[in-house]
Amino acid sequence: MSTLRFELLKEALGRKAVPPVSDNRPADDFEKYVFTRRKMQRYLSRTTYTALIDSIDKGLPLSRTIANGVATGMKQWAIDTGATHYTHWFQPLTGGTAEKHDAFLEPDPAGGVIEEFSGKLLVQQEPDASSLPSGGLRNTFEARGYSAWDPSSPAFVLGDTLCIPTVFIAYTGEALDYKTPLLRSVAALDRAATAVCRYFDPAVGRVTPRLGVEQEYFLVDDALYAARHDLVMTGRTLMGHESARNQQLEDHYLGSIPTRVLAFMTDLENEALKLGIPVKTRHNEVAPNQFELAPIHEEINLANDHNVLLMSLMKKVGRRHHFRVLLHEKPFKGVNGSGKHCNWSLATDTGVNLFSPGGDHVDNLRFIVFLVNTIAAVWRHNGLLKATVSSATNAHRLGAGEAPPAIVSVFTGRQISAVLDALERADTDDVIHFDDKTALGLGIAHIPELLIDNTDRNRTSPFAFTGNRFEFRAVGSSANSAESMLVLNSAVADELARFRERVDALIEGGMAREKAIVTVVKELIVECRDIRFEGNGYSDEWKAEAARRGLDCETNVPLIFDNYTRPETIALFERCEVLSRAEVTSRCEVKREMYTKKIQIESRVLGDLAMNHIVPVSSAYQTVLLDKVSKIDALFPAAEAAAMSRQDRRIIGEIGSHIDFIIEKSAEMVEARKAANTIEAEREKAIAYHDTVVPLLEAIRYHIDKLELVVDDRIWTLPKYRELLFIR
Ligand code: ADP
Ligand code: MG
Repeated sequence: MSTLRFELLKEALGRKAVPPVSDNRPADDFEKYVFTRRKMQRYLSRTTYTALIDSIDKGLPLSRTIANGVATGMKQWAIDTGATHYTHWFQPLTGGTAEKHDAFLEPDPAGGVIEEFSGKLLVQQEPDASSLPSGGLRNTFEARGYSAWDPSSPAFVLGDTLCIPTVFIAYTGEALDYKTPLLRSVAALDRAATAVCRYFDPAVGRVTPRLGVEQEYFLVDDALYAARHDLVMTGRTLMGHESARNQQLEDHYLGSIPTRVLAFMTDLENEALKLGIPVKTRHNEVAPNQFELAPIHEEINLANDHNVLLMSLMKKVGRRHHFRVLLHEKPFKGVNGSGKHCNWSLATDTGVNLFSPGGDHVDNLRFIVFLVNTIAAVWRHNGLLKATVSSATNAHRLGAGEAPPAIVSVFTGRQISAVLDALERADTDDVIHFDDKTALGLGIAHIPELLIDNTDRNRTSPFAFTGNRFEFRAVGSSANSAESMLVLNSAVADELARFRERVDALIEGGMAREKAIVTVVKELIVECRDIRFEGNGYSDEWKAEAARRGLDCETNVPLIFDNYTRPETIALFERCEVLSRAEVTSRCEVKREMYTKKIQIESRVLGDLAMNHIVPVSSAYQTVLLDKVSKIDALFPAAEAAAMSRQDRRIIGEIGSHIDFIIEKSAEMVEARKAANTIEAEREKAIAYHDTVVPLLEAIRYHIDKLELVVDDRIWTLPKYRELLFIR
């Protein structure tokens, strides 16, 4: 083993579990670093507090005076909590979060310094963030982006910094982030869903989407990580032969958690709880060194902020434990990748989950209405939903027989499926005149009971109904879930608005309300039947069947992005007032740009590793063998020498041809990049990268992995899969 690799392994193997930061009981520290309502009450005047809460709950604008009052109180709380700086915390389209820290201290004109943080600084700022991507929305000379406070997500203190959740918009008001359109989609969905709810209960005043994110990730030891330039630069291994054992024994999933990992998890959970993230379940995932963390679901905007925060917290806490957290969708070939299951439901301010079948037939009809409208929304925009989860990184996972296929379909489970089929066939009059007995015949009243048995969950489905919520499982582990959630919210809002129009038209024509509702539901079930699929999503038959049904089956990521600019998509966003045409177009440009850049970086890193590590190391071993063979030739008679060195000669030849291929293809890859880089249009450039660079990445890797199998382990410098995946 190369000395370097040996030292690294020794370091990794010698580590002990690091004890957690605090030994407080987690419950005592819950929300310790969050400016909660209770703390607001303590730090704000009564008038300020009431005005702020009113503004949060009803979405009313804040006056400058109130903002000043909030800023003063918030600053005091932050200082009492140990903060010296503050930042507007926002979610640019690059992924991750952006922050620009400013000190509370400002120079005092009268000399010295004063602590300064006014309402003006709280509410709006102009970070110099002109290099963040905008997809052409901003020209550099008007590169202003503003961050503006989102009072619906509470401020928190991270380290020594007060973080204020904000939206990030251009000076023209266009969204440059994930949060702005997510908030708009929440408003659109509230409008549409509340209107439909009132058919059943006039007391409903508000409907809010809820989100629970299951976050998967890998842990790799610090030292081994540092020696893998590909992991450091791209987040995934661009080479590496499969370990003899990986996940085939299925012994990792839900197995006992290793001590060092457990210490990390405990620490992470404590830190998360202090920031108000209600983490709950943790367990091993399918692949070795893969884990999952899921908080309890929350209102969608907050849940998404919390997921974004959790991702950065994971990385930070990981460092303390000498782990690197990999959020990449596919860090290792041959073992499962990571996703982010987005559990989504709708809740009313009257305390009802609209996806929970209720006790009586009215509740059940309402349940069916929301269920069917959601299914229809997914059907209508299945290509767009796929576009939201598509990226250079998630492309390795979708459709690879481990995660949902690259076709969006809806799984409802046998019982619900039977109910929908029965409803479709039933006579409308029978359905609406049901007493509990006839309803039972239809299966509707049966729902709650049957749902307890949800054993037939279909793990291959990208969009599954799981008893009281939908679970969108195609989202990538590194993604900001807002991208998918805002499309889902908008699509469902639009569907519900259309539903309401159709029902109202029938009512105006003289039909009884319940009959009108059932009539439209029945029509919708027929319309969107093609999206429902209960079978094996990994099978080839499904691909053929899905194509026949007209579902989006495209697998080429840059082409999937075209869904963003289809007229149906733009019309959807405009109707819901979630994104303007310019905003949608620019976001699509950013996606294409990101795709190109990621592949470009991977290609450069692979070229570098191939030429500077793999080829020299392999040549060195080849030389050792050549040396041996020539010595044999010198010492023994020709026939004997030939027999003795037959295998060595074969290996020498094998190494030679792999090296040959790698050098040739690496040069070809440089040319392919050069050609692609001359293309101006982002769409065509991304397509060129997909068509000409990606296949070379794969081809070169194949030969590198073959070399790993023959070259002497003692001189191989890069940590191998069996080390990266099994040491913890
Ligand atoms: P599983 O792996 O079986 O899907 P987990 O317990 O790992 O279950 O994760 C389920 C996630 O779904 C959690 O984040 C949970 O809070 C969330 N969830 C549960 N009920 C709802 C709901 N009504 N709406 C949204 N999310 C929900
Ligand atoms: Mg799940």
